[in-house]
Amino acid sequence: KNEVNIISGALELRKKTVSDVMTHIDDAFMLSLDALLDFSTVSEIMKSGYSRIPVYDGDKKNIVTLLYIKDLAFVDTDDNTPLRTLCEFYQNPVHFVFEDMTLDLMFNQFKDGTIGHIAFVHRVNNEGDGDPFYETIGLVTLEDVIEELIQAEIVDE
Ligand code: ADP
Repeated sequence: KNEVNIISGALELRKKTVSDVMTHIDDAFMLSLDALLDFSTVSEIMKSGYSRIPVYDGDKKNIVTLLYIKDLAFVDTDDNTPLRTLCEFYQNPVHFVFEDMTLDLMFNQFKDGTIGHIAFVHRVNNEGDGDPFYETIGLVTLEDVIEELIQAEIVDE
């Protein structure tokens, strides 16, 4: 039964797109570049349970870098280090994909290791009178794609 699921899941990857499985940007746990890494912020990060935290500058759709939990290893919360300082030190890159990218291509990109295991999802917004622009609408991780592949939820520890 598992094998059948995985085979049909693998075939489905070509039909489903990143926007079908992503986490919506409004549901993402993120931090402002202006945040201070004081005790309360670091506690919140730990409580969220996520290993990668998108960092935005000003607007929540303006994601500029990523904070990895492991980057906090040498942070003393008594120092109230600005998140900006840590981000400037690590400079973790962010990668974007389009919402209509199919999951087989997304899986290959994650597998290549060229973009890490998380990507942000862009939509071309051409509503309104202004020029079209890229709008960040969500995030997608390797886990989201693998769940489609095995057709089951992965329960996090
Ligand atoms: P983690 O290693 O942090 O548990 P995973 O890559 O295993 O993250 O993803 C688990 C689920 O959580 C996926 O559905 C993914 O889209 C979502 N996710 C990952 N990071 C965040 C975040 N910072 N905020 C909200 N959801 C997230």
